[in-house]
Amino acid sequence: MYVHELSYPITKIKGIGKVTASDFATLGVEKASDLITLFPRSYDDRSVMRSLNDISEESGTINTAVTITEHSHYFDSRKNRVLKLTAKDLNSGRTLYIHCFGRSFMENAYPVGSSWFINANVARMKGSFSTSSFTLGSEEVVGVGKILPVYPLSGSLTQRAVRKAVDSILGVKYIKFEDELPYSIIEKHRLMHTDEAIRQMHHPRDMQSLERARKTIAYSELFHLELSLLMKNRKDGKKTVKSTVSALEKKLIGRLPFKLTDDQEKCLEEIRCDIDRGGMNRLLQGDVGSGKTLVAWLSALHVIAKGGQTAFMAPTELLARQHAEGAAELLSGTGVNVAFLTGDIKKKERGYLLDALKRGDIDLVIGTHALFSKDVVFRNLQYVIIDEQHRFGVEQRDALSSKGKKPSILMMSATPIPRTLALTVYGSMDISTIYSKPHGRKPVITHIVDEKNRERMYQAIGVEFQRGHQAYFVYPRIDDEGESDLKDVTTMYSFLKTKYPDIPSRLIHSRLSEEEKIEILDEFRDKKIMYLVSTSVVEVGIDIPDATCMIIEHAERFGLAALHQLRGRVGRSSLQSYCFLVYYGSLSEEAVSRLKVMRQTNDGFEIAETDLKIRGPGEFTGSRQSGFLRLKVASLVNDVELMAQAKEDAGEILASDPGLIRQENAMLRIIAASQVAIN
Ligand code: ADP
Ligand code: MG
Repeated sequence: MYVHELSYPITKIKGIGKVTASDFATLGVEKASDLITLFPRSYDDRSVMRSLNDISEESGTINTAVTITEHSHYFDSRKNRVLKLTAKDLNSGRTLYIHCFGRSFMENAYPVGSSWFINANVARMKGSFSTSSFTLGSEEVVGVGKILPVYPLSGSLTQRAVRKAVDSILGVKYIKFEDELPYSIIEKHRLMHTDEAIRQMHHPRDMQSLERARKTIAYSELFHLELSLLMKNRKDGKKTVKSTVSALEKKLIGRLPFKLTDDQEKCLEEIRCDIDRGGMNRLLQGDVGSGKTLVAWLSALHVIAKGGQTAFMAPTELLARQHAEGAAELLSGTGVNVAFLTGDIKKKERGYLLDALKRGDIDLVIGTHALFSKDVVFRNLQYVIIDEQHRFGVEQRDALSSKGKKPSILMMSATPIPRTLALTVYGSMDISTIYSKPHGRKPVITHIVDEKNRERMYQAIGVEFQRGHQAYFVYPRIDDEGESDLKDVTTMYSFLKTKYPDIPSRLIHSRLSEEEKIEILDEFRDKKIMYLVSTSVVEVGIDIPDATCMIIEHAERFGLAALHQLRGRVGRSSLQSYCFLVYYGSLSEEAVSRLKVMRQTNDGFEIAETDLKIRGPGEFTGSRQSGFLRLKVASLVNDVELMAQAKEDAGEILASDPGLIRQENAMLRIIAASQVAIN
């Protein structure tokens, strides 16, 4: 059988009740197949003899045989009678004192003169050895010669319980797991058969076997990941009927002051085809400023031209408003009716707006989460666009979608993530990517500035002000130290006033009301203000073309993704922009590598790859739902070479057997189907 065919719930296993099952559930184990792929996090190697002679430090572990030579008793600090066994280590001849706290029953079980195996954590003090944490008993009980699995635990689970549960499955007679890789590949890379690999992962014969088993499972995971990626791309690239571009879209495209980039064209075509086919569930990812929003509006026209309604949801009032204004301007004179809906629209106006939506008089509504409140009813909602999708929960996205009859869904993300991760994070979603920026954009020039040498930076920014360009000064936000940090910014604000006495500026921070923020940003856009001093992160998505300077203080405290997002606030027109990363004190090695990457590249995908290497995939996938191929053993960071091999092999197999119809590839088809089903 295949591992995934062990689909019965673990509560069917003897000894697993409700409580244990819920402890397992927090480890992601619900079905028997999950349990069998709950691999040990480490191993307790009892396969090698270690006597007291091997304890050279203050403490260590022994695996040896002892003979009990004496029984004695004493009282501990709580006046409990404690049994102390004196034992002779048969492999070193040394003496070990075994303190049996709360185990006085051992007196009869381990009489003087009897011999046993022992595994113990031994403390060494002044040449004398003692232990109070040990397993003493038969070969079987101590696990002599074995490498014991050490599983991840949760709640009240114990190693014993998990081992027992896993072994109860492995011990079922005649169960043999089918290979999940073609034999030619197993041979080529000297891997194990799947059945052997799984068993060796849980109960390795020796460390070499464990290494081979690990390689087998890791390779298998990566191979299936790469295979599904290739198959997916093939599906995406499939020649579907070319979509018809509506007159409405053509009109708007013709009116644009610039040409769409190739990537924008490609993504638009993918989205149109998907909309025409129905049931779109797509992610549009692209770096900050790559022109995703325009793609969103144009694709909305594709729906609107056929009489459908579109809802566009942004995470904050500020962004929603910016989008609404942008859309209204862009679409004026096209006959498309645009509306803006947020939480604090006046009652009367809101009632009017809701009626119009219900009647179908509004083609495109832009708003915040207010869009999915109960009283919002659409006549014919066919398309839902979600900006900065990671800021919404799944339920919120579903709530909006449920207002239409299976509307097409487009999620937008300005956080580029590496290709392999995209699949694990976004699961079955299709992905459109804008790699290149609009023509004529100059990469932002990034300087790393020691806090002590800030003078020159101020001069350079002063020159930009003279040219009529604008700037952001950003401080890191530290939630729990809000007050003191705000003070810093206030000081900073007054300090900058003395630096640039004639340049108008404003302070903007998270404690201002939404209205005040909007007012300030409007003034900034109108150039009544030339620079902003900000405590909190300047909102992702804010688009001010003449802002050319981004100054980030305490840059060493920001993560790469945040730095990149902030820098993305500038460089949004054909003007040359600058980013100053100001650091304080001496930098950690990690901070140095972060700042270096920022200086070297403007490419969000490259930055994401580096981020992955520095922080590991957990940070990317952590809070998000895990996708359909959860890697349990393989590491996207450490198994890069294995991944390359897997990709090559998967490509070769698909090239020679595109339909996976050959007998030796049948299992690939079965496994692929099971993965889709899980989704
Ligand atoms: P994103 O949402 O991906 O961060 P935007 O859609 O806000 O990026 O685009 C950033 C800016 O680039 C906007 O001012 C937009 O009008 C402009 N823009 C979009 N597409 C192009 C293009 N093909 N050529 C030139 N400018 C463009
Ligand atoms: Mg945007």
